Amino acid sequence: MGETFDRVGFVGLGRMGTPMVRRLAAGGVAVRGHDAAPGVAEGLADVLTPVPSAAAAAEGAPVVVLMLPDSGIVEKVVDGGLLDALAPGTLLVDMSTSEPLRTRALAERVAERGATLVDAPVSGGVAGAEAGTLTIMVGGPDDAAQRLTPLLALMGRVRHVGGTGAGHALKALNNLLSASHLLATSEAILAGERFGLDATAMLEAINGSSGRSGSTETKWPTHIVPGTYGSGFTAGLMVKDLRIALGLAEAVDAPRGHAERTLALWSRAVGTLGPEADHTEIARWLRERPEEDQ
Ligand code: NAD
Repeated sequence: MGETFDRVGFVGLGRMGTPMVRRLAAGGVAVRGHDAAPGVAEGLADVLTPVPSAAAAAEGAPVVVLMLPDSGIVEKVVDGGLLDALAPGTLLVDMSTSEPLRTRALAERVAERGATLVDAPVSGGVAGAEAGTLTIMVGGPDDAAQRLTPLLALMGRVRHVGGTGAGHALKALNNLLSASHLLATSEAILAGERFGLDATAMLEAINGSSGRSGSTETKWPTHIVPGTYGSGFTAGLMVKDLRIALGLAEAVDAPRGHAERTLALWSRAVGTLGPEADHTEIARWLRERPEEDQ
């Protein structure tokens, strides 16, 4: 059965964490929030109680949410005092896009403290976080997933997809698809433009045809055609996610020729654009790069 959690610790108040905390606060949840960047938590004092460390965020909180860049930073935060601060029975929810095998290993160490790690990464971007319409892919024990559902539902649609690590595996595989079709769409639109077609006319036709995707329906019309590149998801994080997906495919020996080529192109784009560029700028990179570099 779902449970009403009215107190939550939240670590990582970046592009995603901030709007997610706003949704929790609007749902009546008291949040103790921490971020490593100076002044970030204090700047959100209208929706949370700023605290100076992840361990302090866990004080008196039955649920602690992490929304951090990657597994390395999640482990650094957990081993930097959070693990010792977890009371038995605490639910530690990693909503970052982390590595599924590292998540399983971390879950064992969290279990030794009598707490439970649940992975609950999200899809839907900053816009979805603001609107509370994220897709939340939950991995973990049935009872923990069920107890967390009403809390997570304040931030989006909850899908319990399997045991520990399943959410993180699925999220990386989703982003392999997302990165692939943004690249494929961009190559197709750029070829069409060079032939004399108009990008918007192409997108309208494709969106009623079999080539449509999130890239044709949202990313190209909203961020690339107007040249605003403001999705809020960086190219560096996309490369991280592709590496996770490829690592997973390698670990289970699944076919991965396409994933390898996709990662190679995205890595080259990030080499030029820098990791903080919006990921939709891959279209601009493709447009501006000499063909021999692609
Ligand atoms: P971000 O870089 O904007 O935010 C990360 C935050 O973590 C920053 O505020 C940073 O200061 C903080 N941080 C880093 N190290 C810390 C530490 N040791 N202790 C405390 N805080 C620390 O990243 P984001 O875009 O919010 O993404 C967060 C996660 O969500 C990533 O795993 C990303 O892949 C995933 N994600 C992002 C989007 C998106 O559209 N931005 C969408 C889906 C999933």
